[in-house]
This record gives sequence, structure tokens and C-alpha cells, in this order.
Amino acid sequence: MGKARGAYFNAAVETMSTDEIAAMQHAKLRRQLEYLNANSPFHAGKLAEAGTEPGDIRSVADLTRLPFTEKTELRESQRRQPPLGSHAAAAMEDVVRVHASSGTTGTPSFIGLTERDKRRWTECIARSYWAQGLRPDSVFAMGLGIGFFVGGLPVAAAVEAVGATLLPIGTGASDRLIASIRSMKADVLATTPSYAIYLAELAREEMGIDPAELGIRRVMVGAEPGGGVPGIRAQIEESWNARCTEAIGIADLITIHSAECDVQDGCHFMVPDYMVMEIVDPDTGAAIPLDEPEIEGELVFTHLDRECNPMLRFRTRDRVTVKTGPCACGRTGPRLRCVGRTDDMLIVRGVNVWPSAVKDVVAGFRPEVSGEMLIRMDGEGPKVDPPLRIRVEAGSGAGDGLAARIEQALRARLIVQARVELVPRGVLPRTEMKASLVERNPV
Ligand SMILES: [Zn+2]
Repeated sequence: MGKARGAYFNAAVETMSTDEIAAMQHAKLRRQLEYLNANSPFHAGKLAEAGTEPGDIRSVADLTRLPFTEKTELRESQRRQPPLGSHAAAAMEDVVRVHASSGTTGTPSFIGLTERDKRRWTECIARSYWAQGLRPDSVFAMGLGIGFFVGGLPVAAAVEAVGATLLPIGTGASDRLIASIRSMKADVLATTPSYAIYLAELAREEMGIDPAELGIRRVMVGAEPGGGVPGIRAQIEESWNARCTEAIGIADLITIHSAECDVQDGCHFMVPDYMVMEIVDPDTGAAIPLDEPEIEGELVFTHLDRECNPMLRFRTRDRVTVKTGPCACGRTGPRLRCVGRTDDMLIVRGVNVWPSAVKDVVAGFRPEVSGEMLIRMDGEGPKVDPPLRIRVEAGSGAGDGLAARIEQALRARLIVQARVELVPRGVLPRTEMKASLVERNPV
């Protein structure tokens, strides 16, 4: 794995030039496509369908000649050929671990890793935690679920690879998590953004402990949008008196593919040696070149170095903004900010509204509000008839006309007509895992 040094865990990859990346990716892509053709009936079929042979792909840009892989195809592949699907590309005897992603339908997808896959994940995830400031002298309180979750054992392995001290506490025992932070003098907390906020509330209100005085210097969040939303980030940083950085990943590909450095201006794509990143137009699927300082689109990834469950142009449904300019940290990877999941987007009278953006506006009213809110709608969406109905939890000392002021701010910033209903503190559900910002009622 090499010895980590200085500002980077893997300086060669993290500071590689665009030209070097293109050459490396092309060589790896050729090998990977040949591997898929030989070992995955699923991918071989897709290549044949597109009338393409691995040798036809002469540069990474040629990837656009290949079809996308959709999540529904993976589910179907696993249904037909359980447990890992015809896209597995590795024999079960070579699979050393299986993770699962819960997904939105309730049917889990299984993700197998060979020994080599597992080692690659460890090194890639370690880079991302190093970028977020994890060091050998850090004490890492892990408030992420362990069972089957890609944010569990792979994160634990990466933290140990950095050489930091791991506290594998998990979720489900929040008071013990707080107590362990104190007794073990943990200085890093890793959770989802909603759980970071929940834990701070719990410490303050149930345990009589000021979270800002627990000694946490860094809160590293991920697994749901929110860490990159200014209002939510501010709430986490104030509560814990710590720097909050975000990481982005997706279970079907890798736990973390992009992570934030201390500049906190988006998550650097950290793994150009492991995956090709494309940004596509979410409506047409057309590739958007990374030649503007800031672009927006959907993330699509292709594995370059994966044995079990490799992906070819996988549509993540994650909508991101991408900054391509240089960063003071010296990393060359473009910087991503997750706008939301395509499935989460609402359309109110023709205007796209992201629930995380609504939460950002609401959180701007702290301490008059707690920061918790829930959008209520009838049906599955994405179209919502105005007004957008939002329940907002009151905080301390709500001033006059608070609901009207929030409605006005939403209209001004998001161009959406909303009706805010204030509810008492503690009424809205708190969660240790992925928080849902929308309640969909059957019509
Ligand atoms: Zn940076």
C-alpha cells in the first residue's frame, strides 16, 4: 500500500495531471473490458448489443459509444441469477465478502468483493479519509452502521490502514457513542449528517453534555446529502465546534469515491485509477465535457479495476455540480457537490426543487427552528401542486410571523410557493441512518 506521507495518502494518484490520468485510464479500461467480455455474460451481452468489441474502445472518450447500466438491470440480473447476478464476473469461491444496499424499493442489491476488490476499496477509502484530515494520531468514533452496510467494515479497514485508532461503535447505542467519545478522547466523528445533528441534541438535552466541549475536531459525514448544504453544515460545525467535511460514494461502486479537503469547496474525485467518472445530461444521457469551470449533471461511473460486480457506465442518479479549477490543496480531482438524488427532485409549477435546498433555507432560521423539517406530499411526485407543504420544528424563542418569514425566504431563494406549519420541538422523526426529507402519502 506504500507509506502515507505529507498531505496525501497517495500523492501519485491524487496529484496526477489530466493527460497522465487519460493514459492510465485508457490502459486500464482496455484490460477491464476484456475481463468483462470473458467473465460477465451480462456485460458481454451489452457490449455485443452495442456492436462493440473491447478493441474498439481507443480512448476513454469512446466510452460514450457503450450503453448505460441502470439499477433496474442489476436487480433483474440478481433476480435471474442469484445471489450476485450475471454481472458478478467472479466465482463465488473467490468472493470474500458481500455487502448489501437497501435501495429505495426495499429489495436489497448484493455487492460482492474479491480479496483484490477489498484491498482496492481499503486503499481508495483511506485516501479519502486522509484528505478529510484523518491521521495516525486521530481517534475515530465510528457512528455508521456495521451490518451489511458499505459504510461499515470497509470504513473500519480504511481507518486502520491510515493508522488511526478505530472505535467501532456503530449505530443503535447513541448514549454509548457519546460516552465513548468522552472516555476515549475521540477527535473524529464519522456519521450521516442527520445523525451528527441528532447526537448533538441527545448529548445536550438528554445527557447534559455540551457536544462542543467533547473534543471532536472533525465531523466526517456522508451516506446522504446534507454535509454539503451550507445551513446543515453550519449546524453541525456549531454544535460540535468542529470542521465538517463530506464524502460521497455509492454502494454499487465503492463506499467513497470523492471526499473533501480542508478547503471545503466540494469533494475531490479521489479514485481516477479505480473508476472513470462521466457527467451526463440527466434527461438525454448525453455526456457533458468537463471543460467549463462549473457544470451540473448526473454522475456515471465505469470501474477500471474491479473483479466482482464491476460496472460499466453505471447511472448513479446522483445529481452533482462539478468544479474543475485548481484547488489550493494540490489535488487534481474535480470537486463535486451533491445536489440530490434524481428520485428526490420535486417539480413545483415547473420549478425544480431539491428537498435538501429547502432544508438549507429552513436551517438558516436557527435557533428559531430546530433545523428539522419534513415535506409532505400526496402521491409519488415528482410534480407537486403548490403550495409545497412543509412541517418545520420550532426551536427556541420563535419570533413573530416565523412561518410567514420562512415561506417568504423559500419564495425568494427557491422560487417556490410553500405553506409552513410549525410543530413543537421533537415531533419530527430522528434517524441514525439515512434521513428522509419527504413524506409521500398515497392518493
Ligand atoms: Zn482540495
